[in-house]
Amino acid sequence: MLRPPTRFLKGIRLIMFSSPQTRRFARTAAVTALVASGLATTIIPAKAAILGSQAVDIIKVSYSGKLYNLQNGVPDLLVFSEWAAMGYPAARTVGQIPGTVYKTWATSPDIIATPPGDSPHKLTFAEWNAAGQPAPIRYSNEGFIKLSWAPEIARMTNLQTGAGVPLSFAQWGSYGFPSYKVQQRITGDQFYKLSASSPDIYYAGPAVNRKITLAEWVGAGKPTPYVRTSSAWGLIKPVDARVTSEFSLARMHPTLGYIRPHLGIDLGASCGTPIKASRAGVISSSTYDSGGGYSVTISHGIVNGVPLYTRYLHMRAPGLASGTRVNQGTIVGYVGTTGSSTGCHLHFEVKPNNQAQNPRNYLTF
Ligand SMILES: [Zn+2]
Repeated sequence: MLRPPTRFLKGIRLIMFSSPQTRRFARTAAVTALVASGLATTIIPAKAAILGSQAVDIIKVSYSGKLYNLQNGVPDLLVFSEWAAMGYPAARTVGQIPGTVYKTWATSPDIIATPPGDSPHKLTFAEWNAAGQPAPIRYSNEGFIKLSWAPEIARMTNLQTGAGVPLSFAQWGSYGFPSYKVQQRITGDQFYKLSASSPDIYYAGPAVNRKITLAEWVGAGKPTPYVRTSSAWGLIKPVDARVTSEFSLARMHPTLGYIRPHLGIDLGASCGTPIKASRAGVISSSTYDSGGGYSVTISHGIVNGVPLYTRYLHMRAPGLASGTRVNQGTIVGYVGTTGSSTGCHLHFEVKPNNQAQNPRNYLTF
């Protein structure tokens, strides 16, 4: 019968008194040496005992396929190759992965769980119960609303004031598909016409800002539309120059060479022309990027029931700093050709509800 050499046992005693790193190294070295010397069969249970403190503990939750290696209470998300390298150890199912974030919104009782490194998941009662009924973070003035007569869903950022933004299916998924509340109307929404004689009815609200069908209008309870003229927005032209490129949802981009929407109107002013704030407000961003160059965005607050923004792109140099209050006509910057631009011009955007609309419907050029 084989016995480990005395020298090895002395080594074990020695490493009991050294640092954890030294001990781990020494154990590995000792095991490797013994495996090499043909003692592997006796060593395998011995290795398991020696390495006991480092034994893998793979955990998962019932609602996710993700596996974590739990070490000293800290879950380490495993990718497939890591799990394979460990020899596909079996996972034990736990009620919750430590560090999971739980959220709930005012528009439904759903609790959304986001385990560390995982995507959000809407919990069933059984799953919440298995997790130990953790108290979620409550967003009591936020949520998700769908119009009863239209397909669009709004992500409400303030239920009291009616502020919100349209929610795409992908964005809804990124929240874990929380249930929405169905409503006929949303605080502050509006039905309007662009002229008294036109039969077309438009709707403006957090979920959507568009022309609606007759059936949709009937579904909304036939609210009387008001006539919204372009002057109702109180906007002025930021520069006095002719329009060189119109707003379009399908324009061939002049420098990129492919079809891309043109979400503003181009005004052919020469470089250095002062750019005037179209309406009073606060500079909400003042940035540089390779597309818009130096640009500023003005937040005008709630106008005609919706949050209104205007944007000014391709400026010669940085414009007024974010947070600056401006009056109508205050110079916010100067015309330039920075960013993706073929010559001096101002690209001007009008964004009710933070959605770019044709500026011609909001002021006269
Ligand atoms: Zn443009």
